[in-house]
Amino acid sequence: MTAFLAKNDVSEEDKFSTVEALTQYALKVAPKLVRKAAGKKLGHCLIVLAKMAFEDYARSAGSVCQCSACRGKGLIYKVKDVVKYPGIITLDGEIMVEPKIKNELVGDLCESCNGKGQLTHRCRCKGRGKVLDEAQTKLQGVPVFKLCDRCAGHGYKRVPSSVAFAAIKHLVPDLTQSSWSRNWKPFYEKLASKCFIEENIAEKAFKKVTI
Ligand SMILES: [Zn+2]
Ligand SMILES: [Zn+2]
Repeated sequence: MTAFLAKNDVSEEDKFSTVEALTQYALKVAPKLVRKAAGKKLGHCLIVLAKMAFEDYARSAGSVCQCSACRGKGLIYKVKDVVKYPGIITLDGEIMVEPKIKNELVGDLCESCNGKGQLTHRCRCKGRGKVLDEAQTKLQGVPVFKLCDRCAGHGYKRVPSSVAFAAIKHLVPDLTQSSWSRNWKPFYEKLASKCFIEENIAEKAFKKVTI
């Protein structure tokens, strides 16, 4: 239930308790080989994975998040030399009147979010998860849709599991790519899907309450 609420932007507290619950779940279901590889770092690894899995799940709301580059301001502030008055300089370079240059804080449009202050996780398929299959549409003469291969039909940009791999590799330096793919990745995917399963249960419970 908390996962469902946290996704719908209820509170930071809910987000925190969801990640905590997910970590507990991870501890229960962590495969043997993962436990062995992580050793003493297991707890830390599980928290990292739970956080990322939840983040991945939360994105599915098609929700927006604050742009981290500008912290939601849309502008990036830098101290710059600003010419207040160009001064008067003769053609041979003699300064008649000194130019006025001030050191000021200037806000430049944030390039990451284009000044919006927010980023959307929605895929380029507009969150539909489907795109027009141009070849088939031409062939059949009616609009044919296919699964969007950018998001595999999820409709949002997923957190690539390579990000999770990099984070875990940091904690467990001996971790190899093949060991990650074989043992860790399925486990990580399981955590993300656990959120969806819980959401379904929560939604059903929610409907029962409201009926
Ligand atoms: Zn920004
Ligand atoms: Zn897509």
